Amino acid sequence: TPALQVRDLVKIYKVKGPGPDKTALKGINLDVKQGSFFGLLGPNGAGKSTLINIIAGLVNKTGGEVRICGFDTEKDMRAARSAIGVVPQELNLDAFFTPREVMEFQAGLYGVPKSKRRTDEILAAMGLTDKADVYARTLSGGMRRRLLVAKAMVHSPDVLILDEPTAGVDIELRQQLWAHVKKLNDEGTTIILTTHYLEEAEELCDTIAIINHGEVVACEPTEDLLGRL
Ligand code: ADP
Ligand code: ADP
Repeated sequence: TPALQVRDLVKIYKVKGPGPDKTALKGINLDVKQGSFFGLLGPNGAGKSTLINIIAGLVNKTGGEVRICGFDTEKDMRAARSAIGVVPQELNLDAFFTPREVMEFQAGLYGVPKSKRRTDEILAAMGLTDKADVYARTLSGGMRRRLLVAKAMVHSPDVLILDEPTAGVDIELRQQLWAHVKKLNDEGTTIILTTHYLEEAEELCDTIAIINHGEVVACEPTEDLLGRL
């Protein structure tokens, strides 16, 4: 089974007041293979966040179908949700909790039994071992991003989704973050990320989909795509 299947996905935002409703997705089709490092590229307003938010179950779709590891996000919502972890765009973190507390709280939300929790292992994978017990507000921006990735991995999802995780992050911290995410991919986690940095997608992703005006205008192996640009 593919990590992600999107079929004829349509999203129309109802706009209040006069004026037409906003069609953000015009019938998207996508397949992401297990173990892939998949990039969603496109200009601002293309529909990337809408697509990610629908996959994550944060926004309702107007039409079409989304399956995560074969689980329909509508008919099999629980199973679909437990198969994905989502790293949000915003750096919202509870400033007065420590990374360990953030992880334990999240594990509780997902009902991960104490005996199956991997807090130390995941924090180590994100390079946060030394910071496990300090307040999150004292962490650098790069460390906070890594903590958000750690938090999204707490229930060991098969698919990790990152929405513009490096917007406004300097090049060194970006490289650090990606080194850590690459490790997760090497260990078998499917990675789906949105970005508008082509170089970033080029360096990291094995497959790239380009979205524009709510449509997939290209979806191919990175090498093939770059060969044509
Ligand atoms: P991207 O993430 O690629 O920048 P978005 O998914 O945020 O694109 O937006 C796609 C289109 O849908 C844009 O034209 C945007 O203005 C519109 N849009 C996004 N969210 C809403 C909303 N809540 N209500 C109305 N229009 C929206
Ligand atoms: P992105 O950084 O992904 O491009 P935006 O800055 O376009 O996101 O949008 C930020 C937030 O505002 C999102 O939650 C989006 O859903 C919402 N939004 C975007 N466009 C509109 C719109 N035209 N009407 C209402 N909400 C919108």
